[in-house]
Order: sequence, then structure tokens, then C-alpha cells
Amino acid sequence: MRDSAKPVPAPVLFNDLRISDPERRQEMDAAVQRVLDSGWFILGPELEAFETEFAAYQHRAIAVGVASGTDAIELALRAAGIGPGDEVITASHTAVPTVCAIERAGALPVLVDVDPLTGTVAPKAVAAAVTPRTTAILPVHLYGHPADMPALCQIAKQNRLLIIEDCAQAHGARINGQLVGTFGDLAAFSCYPTKNLGALGDAGVVVTDDYQWAERLRRLRNYGQSSRYVCEQRGVNSRLDELQAALLRVQLRRLDTDNRARRSLAEEYRRSLQGVVLPAEGFPDAEVQHVYHLFVVQHPLRDRLRERLEQLGVMTQIHYPVPVHLQPAYADLGYVRGDLPVTEKLCDRILSLPLYPGMSLETLDRVVAAIGRSMREAA
Ligand SMILES: *Cc1c(COP(=O)(O)O)cnc(C)c1O
Repeated sequence: MRDSAKPVPAPVLFNDLRISDPERRQEMDAAVQRVLDSGWFILGPELEAFETEFAAYQHRAIAVGVASGTDAIELALRAAGIGPGDEVITASHTAVPTVCAIERAGALPVLVDVDPLTGTVAPKAVAAAVTPRTTAILPVHLYGHPADMPALCQIAKQNRLLIIEDCAQAHGARINGQLVGTFGDLAAFSCYPTKNLGALGDAGVVVTDDYQWAERLRRLRNYGQSSRYVCEQRGVNSRLDELQAALLRVQLRRLDTDNRARRSLAEEYRRSLQGVVLPAEGFPDAEVQHVYHLFVVQHPLRDRLRERLEQLGVMTQIHYPVPVHLQPAYADLGYVRGDLPVTEKLCDRILSLPLYPGMSLETLDRVVAAIGRSMREAA
């Protein structure tokens, strides 16, 4: 039944980061021009404005821009005084940088299992992992779904632990109306281009209500200097430059609109997909606003499904195929297969489908149709 006159459609890409909305593009052009005309490229007015605007969006006292999400986590830990001798509890089912950042701060990452429905750290596993050396919990709001903060805050309070939220995938997500990034003592965000709030390069930001920690963050990101050539502590170079800050101001104004677009595409997927396990939204006693950084389904024969979808012109990804506790680089942490069974099972079944704010319903329908076809063939 081959129709040679019919053109083969271009594959459905996993993501499309081109800035195609003309208004957004115009504002970005203007932002770039402003920076070019100012001749001020590092630690200037655009960064200050972005920090003020992001703090206001987050309902936190202070935001401090840094060079990446990984740095945001590391410097948030260091600003709070967490380092050598401290244990920090987090999920193994996360992007590796969550764990790199803990190690770079000098602390020991303690990796625990996740909730089978949401894929975020399981409060019971966290409580069981607390030792006298534990100083902080580092929950990850994975895929745009909040971790169970009410339960985690309870555990932190009982054990006098700090909470540093990894919000890299969840700008704008909420629990019972409350934004993620407002539950912990500090919260770290990545503005890597694919994230819900994406720069056109690397960027990150930390929010907190503590002025002393914020002051320390500002020193840490700039060689540890409190003023020019006065070094109060040992720092790094991790600054959010003026160009990225100016571009992020444009993106921040559209964050809620972009998240609504993600949520409505997710709704459409939920209505039309069949044969795969849909992502969870919410946990007991809490209403959750998922911001769908990723739309992750599950299937027992994930690899076969992924391969067939690729043949049908639909690109997918896996976040993440190998959990941190089984990565070769982290073998010395001493975990073995079987230690975190929920995480390990999830990693074998998860599949991230294309979803980005500018994705059309026609494109989404092609994904749905390809999955439907794969299911019928397998039946
Ligand atoms: C992206 C990401 C990071 C790291 O952010 P970078 O800006 O790439 O350094 C950390 N944690 C999670 C969960 C992420 O998704």
C-alpha cells in the first residue's frame, strides 16, 4: 500500500528549543541589544533585575543567580554550612548532577528509594536513612512533579535537618497551591535550556529567606570575595552572566503560560494514550500541580516499544536508564543492584514522550497513533 506521491513526514523530535514565537523572539532580541549597548557583561543590572523578579515569582526574600543548576545545589549546601562529615539524603532516581553537587560540597550522598507512583523520594525511606551525621534532605521534584514536601518537612523538623530542594525540573509546580522552592530552607533551580525556565546557555539560581546564607552565596559565586579583592572564604567562579539574565527575564514572564501549555498537552496525552501506564499526579491528602518538565509513561517492554516508535518516526528518551547508585563512577558509594528495588524497576520501564510548550496537537496525535500501532502489533 505504498503511496510514492505521499511525502514521508519528518520524524517527531523529542524536543524543539527553537524560539519560534515572534513576540518572544522580539523581546529576546531587545534584551540582547540592551546588554550589547550597556557594555556590562558580568554582575550587573540585568542579573539584579532577574534576581528581584525571580524572588518575587517564588515568594522568597532573595534569589542569587549562579552559573548552573549543579552549582546552585553545591553552593546552597555550602552556604548553609553543609560539607565534610555531613550526610545528605537524596534519591538515586535523579539526574546525576544532584549527587555530583552533594559530593562537590564535600558531603556524603545517601541514596534512598522512591515512591513507585510519583518517582520522587519516599518519605519512609528518608526517615529510615537518618543517622547522627545526617544534616540535610535534598528532595528532587522529578519530571515536574513535586516531592511529598509535607511529609519530608515533618521528618526534617523531627530530626532537626535542613531541606534543600532540587527544583531543576519543577519551576512553577505546586502542592496545595504552594510553589515548590518555598518549602525548604534553600531551593536550587537549573535554567539549562531544556528546563521549564530555560536560558540560551547554562544558568542556575538559588532562593532563600535567610540574608546571611544569601550573602554567603554571593561571596561563594565570586571567588569568595565580599568586596573587590577581599576574600572572606574560599569560593568558586559561578556567576550568571548579564546576557543569560536578560534572556531569562523574558522567559520568566512566560513561565506560567509555558507551564499551562505543558499541562494541557499532558491532559491530551492522558485522554488519548492507551496501553501504557500514565504518570501520577498528586499524592495522598495533597493536590498537586505537575508542570510536566517531562511526560514519562511506563511499559514492561519499554526497550521494544522505544525501538518500534523510533522506526515509526517518534523520538523518545529515558530519564534515567541507570540510577546513580548503579553508575560506575559511584561504585565506591557501596550500593549494589537490589538495594533500591523500586528505583531499579522504574528505570527499566520508564519512557519520556515528546512534550514541549510549542508542540502542536497534530504532533501529539502522531505520537499517540504510533504508540497505538505498536500496541496492536504486540498484541
Ligand atoms: C538539570 C538538572 C540538574 C543540573 O542542572 P545544570 O544546570 O545542568 O547544572 C540538577 N538536578 C536535576 C534534577 C536536573 O534535572
